[in-house]
Amino acid sequence: MSENIQGKVVIITGASSGIGEATAKELAEHGAKVVLAARREERLQELANGIKNNGGEAIYQVTDVTKQEEVEQLAQLALDTYGQIDAIFNNAGLMPLSFMHKKKISEWDTMVDVNIKGVLYGIAAVLPHMRERKQGHIINTSSVAGHKSSPGSAVYSGTKFAVRAITEGLRQEEAANNIRTTIISPGAIKTELPDSITDDEIREGMGEVLNAAVTPDSIARAVRYALSEPDDVAVNELLIRPTQQK
Ligand code: NDP
Repeated sequence: MSENIQGKVVIITGASSGIGEATAKELAEHGAKVVLAARREERLQELANGIKNNGGEAIYQVTDVTKQEEVEQLAQLALDTYGQIDAIFNNAGLMPLSFMHKKKISEWDTMVDVNIKGVLYGIAAVLPHMRERKQGHIINTSSVAGHKSSPGSAVYSGTKFAVRAITEGLRQEEAANNIRTTIISPGAIKTELPDSITDDEIREGMGEVLNAAVTPDSIARAVRYALSEPDDVAVNELLIRPTQQK
């Protein structure tokens, strides 16, 4: 595997916990300059300090990905600090699973806003710069739930199917501009993600899948692999599941 990571400037959304946090550490350890974003400032500060104490390079900005102007400011911070953006990992997401008849409309709205619009705003914030450079890498987090829908996951799956559709369209539009795209589709990973579930019936039924869950460094390594391939090789999708997940 080529080490095409050293010195790359990588924006990571949802960096305050779980997959985003693990990926920030992994990429920084391999020489990337990471630009961390999420809403919880303390977590971002702690992560950035930890990376810097290990000899890595990190900055952060409190960012709500549902606010387009904040995502634009995040990209601007990366450009002002490092002069370029090599990659963005649009990873922020929420998973308040529920049965549709329970009409948890505000949770549906939040999932659409964070999981879909947040990804779109991330793409919009970096695309002009990447097109100008004719170089860049856009990595978006979908899910196993972006491949199949099931009871309780209809809306969440809808958002994750959307991430895959958007990323594939983007791939075709920007291939000639040398912009790589990667869809990361995790299975069950041990993170804070299930905390957003308010439907008790769903929570009770999740034991088996949560028991099979593996740690987020499994996904961090997948992102590192996609990023580290040579520029003329695009790893377009990776589906990573715990071995024991059905
Ligand atoms: P976590 O809950 O640990 O992380 C979610 C991250 O998203 C947090 O850093 C959170 O930060 C951030 N976030 C949520 N809302 C916003 C917002 N409005 N603006 C900015 N950041 C936001 O879960 P995971 O690490 O598991 O989730 C990461 C991604 O992986 C998600 O897209 C999720 O759907 C996907 N995924 C996870 C799986 C799993 O089993 N864990 C399986 C398949 C996909 P903060 O609250 O500080 O803003």
